[in-house]
Amino acid sequence: MPPSADAVVATFREAGALLEGHFLLTSGLHSPKYLQCALVLQDPARAERLARQLAATLAAERVACVVGPAIGGILVAYELARALGVRALFAERQDGRMTLRRGFALRPGERVVLAEDVVTTGGSLREVQDLVTAAGAEVVAVASLVDRTSGRDPGFGLPLRSLLVIDVPTYDPADCPLCRQGLPAVKPGSRPTPAA
Ligand SMILES: [Zn+2]
Repeated sequence: MPPSADAVVATFREAGALLEGHFLLTSGLHSPKYLQCALVLQDPARAERLARQLAATLAAERVACVVGPAIGGILVAYELARALGVRALFAERQDGRMTLRRGFALRPGERVVLAEDVVTTGGSLREVQDLVTAAGAEVVAVASLVDRTSGRDPGFGLPLRSLLVIDVPTYDPADCPLCRQGLPAVKPGSRPTPAA
């Protein structure tokens, strides 16, 4: 059974990986939400459990390998590969291009799942998809813990499978409805406990 979205949200909240309030992001923009997947993945047991839930959606795909883009995709690819009983690779940028280094290789025809922590535009994953395809392997699915595409097509030509679909609006400080309500903006992590 796939987990309910509520259960996944609860897991993220427990980890302090999803906060609600009025946040000043490092980009300088403001947001009513703060999402930091690294915080949910810092507990290996929690990461393993989430990856197992994601792997359950891929059972029919006869996957041979999981590939994730560094840095965000490394842990998700690794835990997803553990759950699927296959190997995990990561792609990383060299001179600006996504590359398989460290002796990582794909076999022609190999069935590959791409893995990421959060998909927003999908740009890095599309580059990894091209890399996998150029190696003669086949991307059969794309999976992420969080879908932050807000309904925009990330352009994989395949559905994105995610445990949590979330919209994280961002506002220019001059145009922020929370500022207009007079709520103070805080830097995420500046409070000891997550907002409920
Ligand atoms: Zn604001």
